Amino acid sequence: MSDTVQRRFNYSSILIIVFLFGAIVSAGYLFWKTETLSAKVTSLETVQKDLEMELASTTVTLADREEFISELETELESTLDDLEDTEDDLRDEKNKNREFAGQIEDLAGTVNVLDRLSKTDKELLQKYSKVYFLNENFRPSKLTEIDKKYVYPDRQAQFFHSEAWPFLEDMLKEAKSDGVELLVTSAFRSFEEQTVLKGQYTVQYGSGANAFSADQGYSEHQLGTTVDLTTTSVGGAYTSFAQTEAFAWLAKNAYRYGFILSYPENNVHYVYEPWHWRFVGRDLAKYIHRKNIDFYDMDQREINEYLISIFD
Ligand SMILES: [Zn+2]
Repeated sequence: MSDTVQRRFNYSSILIIVFLFGAIVSAGYLFWKTETLSAKVTSLETVQKDLEMELASTTVTLADREEFISELETELESTLDDLEDTEDDLRDEKNKNREFAGQIEDLAGTVNVLDRLSKTDKELLQKYSKVYFLNENFRPSKLTEIDKKYVYPDRQAQFFHSEAWPFLEDMLKEAKSDGVELLVTSAFRSFEEQTVLKGQYTVQYGSGANAFSADQGYSEHQLGTTVDLTTTSVGGAYTSFAQTEAFAWLAKNAYRYGFILSYPENNVHYVYEPWHWRFVGRDLAKYIHRKNIDFYDMDQREINEYLISIFD
């Protein structure tokens, strides 16, 4: 073999060796790389599988939870319905109780009214006349002696219906504080006293006594709620009482204490008695004053409606 050929052969061998070596290295690298990636893929696949399992398990749990929540919601709804029903029942019960309480109250009120009426003498608001008169046995349940400073000096002790006395006392006090003198000449008179008095008048004035002194039995004085009033200047001369300042004060103020003039001027029932004042309770006295009417012109049934409040 020539040198040239020999050299070429050597070069070729070297190139082939280099090439083979490169190929082997490359193959090795690729093999290694493939192995590494494959391991990675396997590992990732494991992770994925784990995640998928976890996801599946979580999904199951979530479904369970959703079902549980749904059950709770149903239960809540039913509980709310029950609550609403209970509230309705409670409201019904309360209404029933209120109605019942109302009935009890009405009943108690009726009993109270009946009780008050049964304890109040109906005679106190009666109109007396020759047709309707007071029983000879009638006497006020309780009498109070009128303070002597309010009684006309030459008179004996005077008595007034105990429940009406505070009203008379207030009126006398108020008049005094207004500088008006008011004195009681006569208050309660029993049936017997009235009989005696009438007898005296009859002896003195004959049949004319009927015009100014009521027969026993229809004198309002027997009620204990009526007073004859005067002043020192007038004394027993009653008829001129109408011209006094005291009468003017009474005409203006007496109704506020429950007193009315039984026989006003120009009344068609009896002689004018400006000194004779009867207690009928503040409600009725106010009504009579406001309407400017006479007690004896009123219907007895209308008057009777004021009996319940006579001492209010
Ligand atoms: Zn009188």
